[in-house]
Amino acid sequence: LQLRLIHNEKAEAIGQVAASMAHEVRNPLTTVLGFLKLIRDHRASPEKVERFIDISIEEIKRTEQILTDYLAISKPLSQHREQIDLVPQLAAVIELMTPYATMHNVVLNCGQLPPKPVWLTATATEMKQMLVNFTKNAIEACSERDRGKVTLSLQLTNKSVSLLIQDNGIGMTEEQVRRLGSIYYSTKTSGTGLGLTFSYQLIRSMDGSVQVHSVPEAGTSFTIWLPLARPLQVRRAKN
Ligand code: ADP
Ligand code: MG
Repeated sequence: LQLRLIHNEKAEAIGQVAASMAHEVRNPLTTVLGFLKLIRDHRASPEKVERFIDISIEEIKRTEQILTDYLAISKPLSQHREQIDLVPQLAAVIELMTPYATMHNVVLNCGQLPPKPVWLTATATEMKQMLVNFTKNAIEACSERDRGKVTLSLQLTNKSVSLLIQDNGIGMTEEQVRRLGSIYYSTKTSGTGLGLTFSYQLIRSMDGSVQVHSVPEAGTSFTIWLPLARPLQVRRAKN
């Protein structure tokens, strides 16, 4: 009986996730389907066709992002951590996200970086996912504003590194800041509310912490503290 109960609960939980994922994916699919039908039936001018194709591409990209968010949150965190240098990781994410920033009229740049490697015990793909999540949110927060700017920087202290993500976007109220990281919490029409849930879980699992400073209409800065790998571990990793 006990076993049966657990199975049912599991199925229920999976059902809830499937339902919300289906809901999220269905919207972009419906949009793209509608456009394809209009184009097939020659019911759109050439300019309209071009516009419909552009929107469809955006919608498909969004679907991809939704699937990425769901996969990240549903997979258990990796048990195979290695020593990774955060500096090149940060540079890679800036490069990766620059087209997204440009598309939103936002300048994405790199602030202060330490002159030496920043070794962490982490999984590269998870770290990258986390950096992308924060950067993406910061860009999205600036997208409706003039002179939007997002800056990523690193500061080294004795035993930890602080990663700063600053934007001059829409900001948040105290109530909004309190809700950050709760599953499905999103204020966006097309958000999943999973990006920060994953990121906060990852930071917690690495014994790190997050501080948020936000002013409505002025901007937000996230400070993420992560413990550095112990020197002995680093030496071994380099050999
Ligand atoms: P999503 O981006 O899909 O909405 P997230 O978990 O990434 O989900 O973020 C949750 C919510 O946190 C966002 O919808 C937004 O309201 C808020 N948020 C996160 N980062 C920022 C930021 N830099 N500026 C303003 N609001 C933010
Ligand atoms: Mg997000």
